[in-house]
Amino acid sequence: MTRQIHVIGAGLAGLAAALELSEQPGLQVTVWERTDRPGGRCWSFEDTRLGRVIDNGNHLILSGNGAVLDHAARIGAADRLEIAPEAALPFADLESGERWVLRVPSGLRDLTRGTGLREGLPRIALDAARLWAAPRTRSVAQAIPRRGGAWRDLWEPLTLAVLNAPPEVASAALLRAVLSRSLARGGAACRPVTAPEGLGHALIEPAVALLQERGVTVRYRAAVTGIEAEGGRAARLCFAREEPVPLGPRDGVILAAPPQVAAALLGLAAVPAPGLSILNAHFRVAPDLAALAAPVTGVIGGAAQWIFRRGDVLSVTVSAEEATPVAGMTREAALARLWQDVARTLGRLEAGYIAARLLRERAATFHTAPEDDAARLPMRSPLANLLHAGDHVRGPLPSTLEAAVLSGRAAGAAMLEAGGA
Ligand SMILES: Cc1cc2nc3c(=O)[nH]c(=O)nc-3n(C[C@H](O)[C@H](O)[C@H](O)COP(=O)(O)OP(=O)(O)OC[C@H]3O[C@@H](n4cnc5c(N)ncnc54)[C@H](O)[C@@H]3O)c2cc1C
Repeated sequence: MTRQIHVIGAGLAGLAAALELSEQPGLQVTVWERTDRPGGRCWSFEDTRLGRVIDNGNHLILSGNGAVLDHAARIGAADRLEIAPEAALPFADLESGERWVLRVPSGLRDLTRGTGLREGLPRIALDAARLWAAPRTRSVAQAIPRRGGAWRDLWEPLTLAVLNAPPEVASAALLRAVLSRSLARGGAACRPVTAPEGLGHALIEPAVALLQERGVTVRYRAAVTGIEAEGGRAARLCFAREEPVPLGPRDGVILAAPPQVAAALLGLAAVPAPGLSILNAHFRVAPDLAALAAPVTGVIGGAAQWIFRRGDVLSVTVSAEEATPVAGMTREAALARLWQDVARTLGRLEAGYIAARLLRERAATFHTAPEDDAARLPMRSPLANLLHAGDHVRGPLPSTLEAAVLSGRAAGAAMLEAGGA
């Protein structure tokens, strides 16, 4: 009988796992997805208010995110990602009015051009040494006790962007893990990568098309509601609206749904808690106004944290929203506050926007406190034929696209290796 592998969840991890499996002939692979679309927390849609395709949330991808770039290449979509020529990010301080460009040097010779940071490298290096030396139980704020200029310009914004939590809460080890694959590798790993026509177009839709071409079935509105076990193996998948699917002795399951779903399906006691919300405000503006913005700008001293430009849409990101000035604001008040920051960043206080959309992604990441990092699931489960995949599975990185692809691929490869397990 043909070996069947069931992938639960069509987020990036589930798709990466299914792609890995689909390269092996003779397997029957089915992806079961709860919603009516693929992509999980990374998707794009045609927004009727803006009349533009927008992403659910801006995603900062860097050239050092090798697995994401390789994923795009494998699905024939490498040309749908654009890699900036330089590792340079413009920053605006809305309180002081200062502007600078953060440059990540590629080597010693490059260092003479400076980093653009408002504090000297020796002090920043000392902070970094403390971060590197911190035990896994420490938060970023505990690891870096100094509150100098680099705290405001670098450590705090980086922690919010990368870990979706304030530095007082977020794990020093997780920040270190991201920095060791980006800043520590120099400019070559830190060039911003954007998807000019949307993340869905670059990372998700071509993946689903390729899977279908390879004979993988993707079933939407098909939430798995139970996994019945027998003899230490997953024996049956149960659904709210489908007949149960029995698993044969060689069949396997890759559970690529978020940790709370995994906990409910398998009765697990400890998984990482859901993290904070990420707010995205998408503003369609006049093309000449959009042209004033860089593809990605960091904002200090405002409610906005990052501004992304795609065509005539300027999109603001607010990570860890609950810990920011926009928490609890009405939609109108939040849009007004964030637009004010955009107008100030562009130096065009009088400017308005044409249309706006506010999107709030609750639990955008798993909670990135040290104890939640420690509660991440191992890839292998107590059931011999069930593997975990997803950004919450133990691995080198926190809740990121890179972590999701790496985890999905690892689970796919391990399932193939396990053969008849
Ligand atoms: C607003 C926002 C901004 C972000 N910014 C960045 C960024 O700048 N850089 C970065 O690298 N990462 C960023 N991330 C994180 C990134 O999107 C995630 O790490 C990644 O998409 C996680 O993929 P995943 O496949 O592990 O999980 P998910 O995308 O959550 O996929 C899980 C899938 O399982 C499905 N599912 C759930 N329950 C069931 C069930 N019972 N049966 C079947 N299917 C089920 C879900 O519907 C979902 O499709 C951001 C996330 C958000 C929301």
